[in-house]
Amino acid sequence: MQKENIVIIGSGPAGLTAALYTARANLNPLVISGNQLGGQISITSEVENYPGFPEGTTGPELVELMQKQAERFGARIQIDEVTEVNFSQGSPFRIKTYGEEYEARAVVIAVGASPKRLEIPGEEEFIGRGVSFCATCDGFFFRDKDVLVVGGGDSALEEGIFLTRFASRVRIIHRREELRAGETLKARAMKNDKIEFLWNTILDEIDGNGKVESVRAHNVKTDETLKLDTDGVFIFIGHYPNSSLFEGQLEMDDHQYLLADDHMMTSVPGVFAAGEVQDPTFRQITTSVGQGAAAGMMVERWLEAQE
Ligand code: NAP
Repeated sequence: MQKENIVIIGSGPAGLTAALYTARANLNPLVISGNQLGGQISITSEVENYPGFPEGTTGPELVELMQKQAERFGARIQIDEVTEVNFSQGSPFRIKTYGEEYEARAVVIAVGASPKRLEIPGEEEFIGRGVSFCATCDGFFFRDKDVLVVGGGDSALEEGIFLTRFASRVRIIHRREELRAGETLKARAMKNDKIEFLWNTILDEIDGNGKVESVRAHNVKTDETLKLDTDGVFIFIGHYPNSSLFEGQLEMDDHQYLLADDHMMTSVPGVFAAGEVQDPTFRQITTSVGQGAAAGMMVERWLEAQE
């Protein structure tokens, strides 16, 4: 059993910022990375709204810089995944990973959120063979090909615009006739020659033979059914919090977001939460960073008060 002051579960902007703050407070934090170092931003193509980067930056670059900065002050990052936690006895808390077992005086949960699925036939079957949730990862494979993007939010538009670097045509399929995305991205997408919109349309099935070849969809207004030939389907329809590990141990809202108070403390004293696992509202890198900083400061105060 490895004994730690603070274990931070998750290595996205919230986790790495909590690591920076607790490392600078001399608490020698351990970050358990999860299956993707950097979390969602490590697969985000362009980041244009993170202050300090007037020309924009990329997700992977931001992760690298955040990691370096936390490590410079002594944070340790362990590439591993948490498989089980036991918070029932209070501090010290028990955390199991694939490779190790830990006892931590305090915990920060920053495990983020994951892309929602359409839950239609063919979606699961064709992942990696035409179905993707990450334009940065897979866009390159669609050079001069036709792709569909599902969703009407900022992610769908931003990733759709990114895909026009490779694809010959990007059709954005949205279930309504009004986009949820903000004005800047809307304007950029509308004036991009390679982008077309299919409004009031819902995908029913993804078909192919070994790889994606077509989809079946229908128009919700006219009930008309459509068969669209395509090479790829990129799905950006929002996220769900990665909170299943904490079921029965921490209080959550109706959508499984962890409940945290204004000191970022969960329903168990000494267990803090930051970033998208507890934030259904803002879901920005900037807000996750702020929540990570707040959690880091509150952990430090909480530990001090225990002594
Ligand atoms: P989102 O804003 O929740 O949008 C999800 C989109 O998917 C909506 O248009 C929604 O349709 C559609 N959708 C949801 N479930 C669906 C289903 N089952 N079938 C078909 N369509 C479905 O998610 P997001 O785009 O990932 O953005 C999340 C947050 O990150 C937002 O706050 C966003 O502003 C932010 N973000 C910002 C930037 C940026 O500023 N550059 C970039 C990316 C993300 P309805 O509209 O009909 O609900």
